Formats: sequence, C-alpha cells, structure tokens
Amino acid sequence: MTTTMTDEKLRNHSIRPTAIRKTILDLFISSGYALSHADIEKLLDNQCDRVTIYRTLERFEQQGLIHKVPDNSNINKYAVCADTSCTSQEHHDEHLHFTCEQCGNIFCLNIMNMPTLELPSGYLLNRISLEAEGVCKECNEMN
Ligand SMILES: [Zn+2]
Ligand SMILES: [Zn+2]
Ligand SMILES: [Zn+2]
Repeated sequence: MTTTMTDEKLRNHSIRPTAIRKTILDLFISSGYALSHADIEKLLDNQCDRVTIYRTLERFEQQGLIHKVPDNSNINKYAVCADTSCTSQEHHDEHLHFTCEQCGNIFCLNIMNMPTLELPSGYLLNRISLEAEGVCKECNEMN
C-alpha cells in the first residue's frame, strides 16, 4: 500500500489525510488482524497521544473505514473494512471473525455462503456477525 492509496482511501471516506491518520490506516492495512487501542499505541512507539488515537479510531469507524470486532476480553479491537463495503451511513462487515487460541489475534475472514437467517415475523435484521475460534494459519504452520 503506497501513501497515495492511503490518501485516496481517506478522501473517499471524507477524511482529511493528515500524517497521523495515514500512519494509523497503514497499520490497519498492513497488520492482517484486528488491532486494539493499546496495540496501536505500541506500534506507534508511544509517539502519539492517546486522545488523538482515540479520536482517529472513532472517526474512522464513523466514516466506514474500520469496524469494531467482537473480543471476549472486553477490549475494543478494530479491523479495516473491505474496500467499498462500508460508508458513513452503513457498515457491511458480514464476514467471519476468527479468534486464534494461540496468538490471540482476531482475523476478518471472507467465507463463502454466509448463513442466512430466517427470523420470526416482525423482526428486522440489520447486521449479522459470525464468530469462530481455532488456530490461525500462521500458528498452524509453526506447530
Ligand atoms: Zn465496515
Ligand atoms: Zn495464531
Ligand atoms: Zn471484520
């Protein structure tokens, strides 16, 4: 991912590309798994204050760039949204969130045949999220 592409991604989601926003977006794109606030702080080598990181994440989420990933440890983790799936109006992150039991990382996995639900009448489905646990590719290869 080049800087120009990060620039464009931010602009497409109505976010003015500042240096720190580009850096944080780059972290998400290159990480391959979901990142928490603390992860980002560490990756930035504590060179960025917490409030700026917090606001950046909030803004990214609002504008459809990243989505919250369910984590059973109650820590908010975020992952980058698929290229054109999400906007400031709506998130469409219908994919599997896979938690690795060994490294603890959470991965967004695209799977074929996401289950469709038939709800009792009167219920309106806006969002569906699917979670799974197991061993990720990288840990599996090290076993
Ligand atoms: Zn999204
Ligand atoms: Zn793993
Ligand atoms: Zn995801």
